[in-house]
Amino acid sequence: MLEIKNLHVKLEEEDKVILKGVDLTVEAGKVHAIMGPNGSGKSTLSYVLAGRDGYEVTDGSASLLGADILDMEPEARAAEGLFLAFQYPVEIPGVGNMTFLRTAVNAQRKARGEAELTAGEFLKVVREKAKSLKIDAEMLKRPVNVGFSGGEKKRNEILQMAMLEPKMCILDETDSGLDVDAMKLVSDGVNALRDEGRAFLVITHYQRLLDHIKPDVVHIMADGRIVKTGGPELAMEVEQNGYADILAEVA
Ligand code: ADP
Ligand code: MG
Ligand code: MG
Repeated sequence: MLEIKNLHVKLEEEDKVILKGVDLTVEAGKVHAIMGPNGSGKSTLSYVLAGRDGYEVTDGSASLLGADILDMEPEARAAEGLFLAFQYPVEIPGVGNMTFLRTAVNAQRKARGEAELTAGEFLKVVREKAKSLKIDAEMLKRPVNVGFSGGEKKRNEILQMAMLEPKMCILDETDSGLDVDAMKLVSDGVNALRDEGRAFLVITHYQRLLDHIKPDVVHIMADGRIVKTGGPELAMEVEQNGYADILAEVA
């Protein structure tokens, strides 16, 4: 599904190298987790994959279902099936949440050569999915994320993901700022989307989320590289001992 090879990335504006040779292969149907200390480059990796400005790829490659994505515009990557749930969801004043979702869904359907959803069809689907994430009708009418609590923003990211039905889903610390109940809702939302034809990259600081969204593979990222890869037990090890032991071992 996703193949990243030797990815090197620096900031466009300054000579700061952030990713120093990331290698990562995520197979369809799998959930991979990335953990790692603050500042190790996890969010940068997700931004570069999604196509955010401000970063320069100096070496390496990234492909989605065999297609090189690094030269594509962000919307083309999305049309290919890439989705990023942001660590810090953006507020969009003046754009209703429902309008935003419908525009995004129909743009993607169009890019895939599928018929757009009618207003009625869209309403039916969005209401059903919003309900399972406990997002009420009033939140659907408000401008995107404006005045939403931290937890509501994260649930709204999952609603976007559920509506767009992407193939490669990247969740950047979607659990941060969530209470136990909201974490359960978000995890249930993600688990409902698990499918043979879809893959997930779940970036998280905490083992807690991985109790709900059981990963197949866990990676540890440090200083711009994946330094260790293992099974779910690796997340337990981090939870118990922190990163120090792992970092010392790979140093
Ligand atoms: P993580 O998500 O693992 O905490 P980030 O990818 O957010 O790490 O950041 C990696 C490093 O790159 C940090 O040292 C961060 O300060 C730096 N960095 C990332 N983006 C920028 C930017 N736009 N300007 C300056 N520094 C940045
Ligand atoms: Mg950060
Ligand atoms: Mg981050």
